[in-house]
Amino acid sequence: MAKFNFGQGHPFHPQRFAHFLKLLERVGLDKCLEKLELEPATQDDLRLVHTESYLAYIKHLENINGRITMDTPVNSDVTEVQGLIVGSGLQAAELVLEDGGIVHTFGGLHHAGSDYGEGFCLYNDVAITARALIERHGQKRVLIFDTDAHQGNGTMDIFYDDPRVLFISIHQDPRTLYPGRGFVHEIGEGEGAGYTINIPMPPYSTNPQYERAIDEIFKPIVKEFKPDVIIRNGGSDPYHGDELTLLGLDYDGLNMMASKVRQASMEGPGACKKQIDMMVSGYGDLVIYGWLAMFCGTQGLDVDYKKQAPVEYRIPGGYAQDRLDKMTEDMLGKLKGHLKEHWNCFR
Ligand SMILES: [Zn+2]
Repeated sequence: MAKFNFGQGHPFHPQRFAHFLKLLERVGLDKCLEKLELEPATQDDLRLVHTESYLAYIKHLENINGRITMDTPVNSDVTEVQGLIVGSGLQAAELVLEDGGIVHTFGGLHHAGSDYGEGFCLYNDVAITARALIERHGQKRVLIFDTDAHQGNGTMDIFYDDPRVLFISIHQDPRTLYPGRGFVHEIGEGEGAGYTINIPMPPYSTNPQYERAIDEIFKPIVKEFKPDVIIRNGGSDPYHGDELTLLGLDYDGLNMMASKVRQASMEGPGACKKQIDMMVSGYGDLVIYGWLAMFCGTQGLDVDYKKQAPVEYRIPGGYAQDRLDKMTEDMLGKLKGHLKEHWNCFR
């Protein structure tokens, strides 16, 4: 994973993986983990989602050390690592179907579409995993909950007309952040109408607004859709100290979000008890502490994750809570209006 390197000055730093594993050791969590050897994805695996011509294009860029976009260079290190990430998603799919429970990967390359790549992503491991669950393993319904601060445009496009994969993304308002997609009216098309759900959070949103949005949209939808498997993807970039985004969650907020996904997948009658959890994003020096807060929430572990992190400070600015509440309420009202035709829980 150390080869996941886009070069000097790029906001994505590959040291995160080794540092995070060390942090898990420091808090004693490495002992309760079984680590598995990664296996690279094959061309057949990549074809589950990507077109032949796109894969040939990536191969070409790899040969000439090119780039897809300014911020997304392509070289043999990056294609190797991203191939391993896709492989780990596929392995995770097999493991949760065999044993149930929660499998973690360092994944979530959600900006790659079937015939395009961007935003540091060449191959979409989230989508390939979901499609493998359905086409190779015969699952009927897969729910993807994308909690990355950036909207998962690649995943959305791939399943936009597919009712077997319900895609829910909670992200910073696309008017204020890359990729500029994921408005409340983008709800899928054809047979997939209603099976894409975008929750665009106001910039500077804090824990209470996120909690409300998850409780009012994600929770009832899980009950009604009854997924066979839940895939959650997204790292720590909704954290208020993240260097690329403008959201206001603290470590408790990240932990809360992860706990709620765990509750939905693992607890209560009808829970599918199968979750694949993918974490790769986050920008700045505090990424691994955000990951730890999320990891503890996902696993339901009582660990003092905040004690591990440097002292938190907030950059002054943002909106007052009552204004954030009002903006969130308006957004949720509009979203439910678009969805009520498709979901009983919003009628
Ligand atoms: Zn992101």
